[in-house]
Amino acid sequence: MRFAVTELPEEGRNASEVLEDLAAAKVDDRDWRGGRVFSLVYSAGDAVHDLHGEALRLYSAENGLNVLAFPSIGRLSHDLVGWTSSLLGGDETGATGYLTSGGTESLLQAVKVARDTGRARGINRPRIVAARSAHAAFTKAAELFDVELVRVDVDERFRIDLDQAAAAIDVSTIMLIGSAPSYPHGVIDPIGELGQLALDHGLLLHVDACLGGLLLPWLVEAGHVNVPFDLTVPGVTSISADLHKYGYASKGVSVILYNDADLARHQLFVTSDWMGGFYASTVMAGTRPAGPVAAAWATMQHLGRTGYRRLAEETWVAARRLIDGVGTIDGLRVLGDPDMTVLAIAADDGRGIDVFAVADRLAEVGGWYLDRQTDPDALHLTVHAGSAAAVEPFLEDLATVVAGIGDERSSDRSAPYATDRFATDR
Ligand SMILES: *Cc1c(COP(=O)(O)O)cnc(C)c1O
Repeated sequence: MRFAVTELPEEGRNASEVLEDLAAAKVDDRDWRGGRVFSLVYSAGDAVHDLHGEALRLYSAENGLNVLAFPSIGRLSHDLVGWTSSLLGGDETGATGYLTSGGTESLLQAVKVARDTGRARGINRPRIVAARSAHAAFTKAAELFDVELVRVDVDERFRIDLDQAAAAIDVSTIMLIGSAPSYPHGVIDPIGELGQLALDHGLLLHVDACLGGLLLPWLVEAGHVNVPFDLTVPGVTSISADLHKYGYASKGVSVILYNDADLARHQLFVTSDWMGGFYASTVMAGTRPAGPVAAAWATMQHLGRTGYRRLAEETWVAARRLIDGVGTIDGLRVLGDPDMTVLAIAADDGRGIDVFAVADRLAEVGGWYLDRQTDPDALHLTVHAGSAAAVEPFLEDLATVVAGIGDERSSDRSAPYATDRFATDR
């Protein structure tokens, strides 16, 4: 798809007309409000989205780069980091951390800190070990910061293969990665064992809890999950958690926490090596939007512990129903026994149907939108509070589609991120 070209007008247009155009521009966008988009948007309901809008508006002009000029942004950020830290065991371990713009940036920071730590130990091109299921952002980070990312396989439950991870460690290795849970299959890597491995070899261990960081604590509290994953696990040196996923915040806010203040210091950039005077930042960006910080703060205050508990329970129940429901459909299976509320659906060996053809049909019959994964081919679903109510109608459509799919093959084997779909040139 190519985007139509709109000219920059000579004379400015009035605001209401421009806003109408914006509303109209969304015509082809996925309608996530009914819960039929099982990725990309996390919703705790219209009231929370309205709250985002108000908070974003209050802080649309301020610049998060300078918290001396805008101390309120510093205070709000401090609260967000502190609340996230206490959910993830940081109070016990004395963790320190920062807000970032999202999961990708949190992982970039974790990898940059590891690279710097490695170089301080005299390792020129440090090595990081992660499973094939660890997020693509680790590959991006490895390219950007010139570290070697060694990807090892997963076991039959789609968790990192510990023997392969151990075998991949060499004198250049600086950090291990565990996911809690992994994005593709929603399973939690054995963080306790990874921690032991890290301690045995003197390595850092980053836990990518971008997805689970704001949900797992409530599921653990409720007794649904009992896999250790947070900062209190011996050997864990840092953890990332996205507020804009299960924190139900507006986009643009994630947290990275370090168990060791010396590690955290590597993230701080300070210079006076230019003519503009003293300059400091803790993130990739310079000028930073403050709106997402304010919206995240407002969301967490508004939901409170009780709100998060309720949303977690609804989501958990809906995800279990979905996993059980998929299990009863002949021809499909859920990969890897998901630990949380994120799952991947694949064809079972018997019928050998093409799950991408199933996704095509689901889009036609019900406007369902599912991410496509490969190796093995699977459909990806994130159950959040806003998609919980869509689980029953989804299962009905899924059963009908699969029953009639035969040996149909999809021509669309690409992930939705294929670059040709993002062409914006003329
Ligand atoms: C979403 C996600 C990321 C990347 O986060 P963005 O906010 O999309 O940049 C990293 N790791 C995991 C496990 C994720 O789910």
